[in-house]
Amino acid sequence: MVLKINIAQREAIGRHGARDYPSECCGVLLGSFRGEVKQVNEVVALKNLRHEVSHAQELLPVDDPARETERNRFLIDPLDQLRVEKDARARGLEVLGYYHSHPDHPARPSAYDREHAWPWYSYLIVSVERGVAKDLTCWTLAEDGGLFLPEPVEVVG
Ligand SMILES: [Zn+2]
Repeated sequence: MVLKINIAQREAIGRHGARDYPSECCGVLLGSFRGEVKQVNEVVALKNLRHEVSHAQELLPVDDPARETERNRFLIDPLDQLRVEKDARARGLEVLGYYHSHPDHPARPSAYDREHAWPWYSYLIVSVERGVAKDLTCWTLAEDGGLFLPEPVEVVG
């Protein structure tokens, strides 16, 4: 598969990453797919629930909430996710994947990212160095779910 996004969408993701720095930002990619192409039509910014530690602990408990902060984790509220999915479907769009930022870290998936990923979806990661958006990479789980593999991104004018 190849993920196609346009320059404005790529910039919107970078701006979201810069705005939420030094926290991680996250959002969803909506569009359509045909054959080997995932075409992004909309980029929707979501709230990183790790901002709200107690709520995040209820939804997805972690051993050490003080370390698992919004700076190195993101968590999408299932209610937000449901709302966006319903709204997308009503408009004939699919959820193609998700994006999030890596503040002061390379645009490579962490073990956490891989463990919390679902098959088929595209996972865009934007690195944000000292508040400035840099690299954008895309990843998808291998068929057997064991590995996160790079997925080509085509940025179209
Ligand atoms: Zn990550």
